[in-house]
Amino acid sequence: LSAAAMPRVAVAQGAVGPARVVVVGGGFAGATCARALARSGLAVTLVEPNPTFTACPFSNAVVAGLRDIAQQRFGYDGIRRDGVTVAHRAASRIEAEARRVTLDDGTTLDYDRLVLAPGIDLRFDALPGYDAAAAETMPHAWKAGEQTLLLRRQLEAMEDGGVFVMAVPANPYRCPPGPYERVSLVAHYLKTRKPRSKILVLDAKDAFSKQRLFQAAWKELYPGLIEWVSQSEGGGVTEVDPATTTLVTDFGRHKAAVANVIPPQRAAAIAAAAGVADRSGWCPIDPVTFESRLQAGIHVIGDAAIAGGMPKSAFAGNAQAKACAAAVATLLRGETPAPPKLINTCYSLVGPDYGISVAGVYAPANGLLTDIEGAGGVSPAQAPPSFRSREAANAQAWFETVTAEVFG
Ligand code: FAD
Repeated sequence: LSAAAMPRVAVAQGAVGPARVVVVGGGFAGATCARALARSGLAVTLVEPNPTFTACPFSNAVVAGLRDIAQQRFGYDGIRRDGVTVAHRAASRIEAEARRVTLDDGTTLDYDRLVLAPGIDLRFDALPGYDAAAAETMPHAWKAGEQTLLLRRQLEAMEDGGVFVMAVPANPYRCPPGPYERVSLVAHYLKTRKPRSKILVLDAKDAFSKQRLFQAAWKELYPGLIEWVSQSEGGGVTEVDPATTTLVTDFGRHKAAVANVIPPQRAAAIAAAAGVADRSGWCPIDPVTFESRLQAGIHVIGDAAIAGGMPKSAFAGNAQAKACAAAVATLLRGETPAPPKLINTCYSLVGPDYGISVAGVYAPANGLLTDIEGAGGVSPAQAPPSFRSREAANAQAWFETVTAEVFG
């Protein structure tokens, strides 16, 4: 890393001021990072187009009619109160050499270090038939907001006896257990409101996060309601037809009453524009500093980053953001950051009062954030209802805590 990184720098006007950090993306990772950087005394600008953030965690409960979308929405006033300058614009251009960000209104921001936390884009070029227009008929609901509400409305309008078909992508994608949590909560809705209906899950993989726990719970809570088809059993969706809400696999065509197509994903477009995404579409980083392996001075956190063993979760993005902010502040003082240790827990609701979790601890090893063996774990296979209920409450408490920390 260059010795040019110094705590105080000459700004454009020739004066000397605190080092300037720009953070692009005000989701779980970016908003956390901006606050932490501001608290360490740096001049921070957060660039985020939306004045209101809509959180994905717990959005499956909105789909299932168990929760209001208003509970998913958060503003940026708390972040402003910490001294962060918030620009409600999209970053449209990043010049790594010049260390400059251009916003969609033409404004430019010079930086000493840039943190990119733009999340994901759905790939509308990966699954034949599935583009942005198709998503209006076959919602992904993998970015929370209008898509979540669209899927909810479709489910409400579905007749009893209909088939809800979900297409799940191969790894990596945002929130590995998310599709199966959604399947569970939709099953709860159908069981209680439309009991003759069925769920068909067409999966592009043969195994998934917390699989044994999910499948055991499905048997117990929703017997006969959910059919999961793995990749090797022909679950991979090769094409969709939005005109007839049909999903096509190598083995047949499935007409859905409601089709929830979760397509493959990549880091949001600004990452590729900045030159920090590799051919996979995701962003390789140094696991100690989160600095891009492709462009100096740009750090990447959250879903956009290749975080080794860490899943793409809000919990992980929040943890990475704090470690990254500490590393950026250390680098700007001209010092060397210490390797971080990061924790992640992914909670899932299998029913309104039935939670399961998987936890991990990660540290840099061999150039990647690597799972420390034996440090994490999953919920026990056998447990009384009181235990599952406590985990559901823990999930809720986690959401309250993290959103208060990030946006409160
Ligand atoms: P995001 O939160 O998506 O934030 C990215 C931000 O960047 C957005 O606000 C976007 O507007 C902004 N942006 C994009 N491009 C630009 C640009 N050019 N200029 C400026 N800003 C830009 N995680 C959990 O930990 N627990 C859960 O229970 C959980 N449940 C989930 C359930 C579902 C259904 C889904 C889909 C996800 C779930 N997740 C969960 C995953 C979690 O939502 C993501 O991992 C998390 O949001 C990633 O944070 P991020 O900051 O990287 O991206």
